[in-house]
Amino acid sequence: MEAVFVIVGGGIAGVTCAETLAFFEPEKSIILLSESSLIKTVTNLHAITKILTNFDIKEISAQEFSTKHSNITVIHDTLIEINDEEHFIKTKDSKTIKYQYLCLCTGAEPKLIPQANEFPEILGIRDTDSVESVVQKVKESKKIIIVGNGGIASELVYKIQNAEIHWVIKDRHIAATFVDPGAAEFFQPSLEKREMCEPPVSKRMRYKEEEFKKSGAALGPDWYKNLIINGANAEVPSSVTVHYQSEVSSVKKPASSVFPLEVNLTDGEKIDCDLVISATGVSARRNFTTKNNFELSEDGGIQVNEYMQTNLLNIYAAGDICSANWPVAKHWFQMKLWTQARQMGCYAAKSMVGHLNGEEVLQDFCFEMFAHSTRLFGYKVILLGLFNGQKLGTNYEILLRMTKGLEYIKFVLENDKLQGAVLIGDTDLEEMAENLILNQIDLSPYGDDILNPDIDIEDYFD
Ligand SMILES: Cc1cc2nc3c(=O)[nH]c(=O)nc-3n(C[C@H](O)[C@H](O)[C@H](O)COP(=O)(O)OP(=O)(O)OC[C@H]3O[C@@H](n4cnc5c(N)ncnc54)[C@H](O)[C@@H]3O)c2cc1C
Repeated sequence: MEAVFVIVGGGIAGVTCAETLAFFEPEKSIILLSESSLIKTVTNLHAITKILTNFDIKEISAQEFSTKHSNITVIHDTLIEINDEEHFIKTKDSKTIKYQYLCLCTGAEPKLIPQANEFPEILGIRDTDSVESVVQKVKESKKIIIVGNGGIASELVYKIQNAEIHWVIKDRHIAATFVDPGAAEFFQPSLEKREMCEPPVSKRMRYKEEEFKKSGAALGPDWYKNLIINGANAEVPSSVTVHYQSEVSSVKKPASSVFPLEVNLTDGEKIDCDLVISATGVSARRNFTTKNNFELSEDGGIQVNEYMQTNLLNIYAAGDICSANWPVAKHWFQMKLWTQARQMGCYAAKSMVGHLNGEEVLQDFCFEMFAHSTRLFGYKVILLGLFNGQKLGTNYEILLRMTKGLEYIKFVLENDKLQGAVLIGDTDLEEMAENLILNQIDLSPYGDDILNPDIDIEDYFD
């Protein structure tokens, strides 16, 4: 087989890349190689601001996807080898596919705590199937340990009802991947008064994947929206105990206990439990060989330059598999999130098209500023620019406005110019904050009024 463009991976990055290629080059052949039988497409895309977007993810079958794009052939198979010298790849089902341009979008896999190899009661979350098995296990559990402090752990702690939850985090405050201690304090009451949800109406299509196709794409932003996760402890009100600055040191079968696991923490505490959910980050998924080596970053990601090109000729990479290795704009940095997977997939396609046609490629505007919209503990959360003072050392000021249970707004300023913002709740400030960061307007004339709720600050900038 052969194609001008071969894309590997049916997640957000790979599918966006294939769709963008099909749009710009409707006459050229495109092959999308996907290990999972479901393809993740982006729907209901809408721009909140210039850079910030919201979208839903719809999982569709490979057949439905190919019908929509006449020049894309979807092959349901696994990449095992890249011959980067003769420009072809080999798959698990012994297919050989020649490419002119190859884009790798194989994503990342969860980094579980090391003890997960020994105990089936330690689970991670990656795709729809793994969510289902976690939900099933939680149903049978009265006491659960959640390890990790990112978005997935925070959502699970918030969603699980009818169980005693022990949340083990290595930081001094909750949700540290995204927010500072002040915002963590703002979220704290949500831990006691967690959401009681209605039974879910799942928008996802239900396909049962065969055993060997289990390693599907990472979930999309809607994975938890309608999820109800109930434990087995309906008689006792659910509770969350946070174990700060600690990690799992060892796990064993207890000598005598009703619980199957005994978990020891680095702070010396011992907890017996039914289940451990490990949500401790991801590592790049490089499950194939090459003739020459890729240049890798410290976290194992394939390094890409400002055109999403790897060091190997005509091979590009996008999404969770890659590590940005270009002199990035002051207000941008990489985080393994669906927003960036989509942006990178799209931009890799534009770069390949530009290089094929000998056209100049200009970097996409989205790489000017970090922007992410999510939900944490039931609140809308928007993170813009250097929202935690990243890259600024100690040379910055913080302006804060907080109304308990309603909103938390943090502006990060350097030399009276806005560098980043955390907007929690329905603040309606995202557009203004984005403009202030991008335009670097001198805010010294406004002083603290910039966050004065009695002044409609947007009037200043009209
Ligand atoms: C539980 C969970 C919740 C998350 N929540 C959020 C959130 O709320 N907000 C957010 O922004 N991000 C979230 N993320 C992260 C986000 O899902 C990822 O950043 C994003 O999906 C990455 O997209 P990708 O296309 O690079 O990789 P993936 O979506 O992982 O897709 C990789 C694809 O490559 C395929 N593949 C892998 N190896 C091969 C091979 N050798 N041959 C063929 N195909 C292969 C896989 O089957 C898969 O289809 C979450 C992740 C998880 C796991």
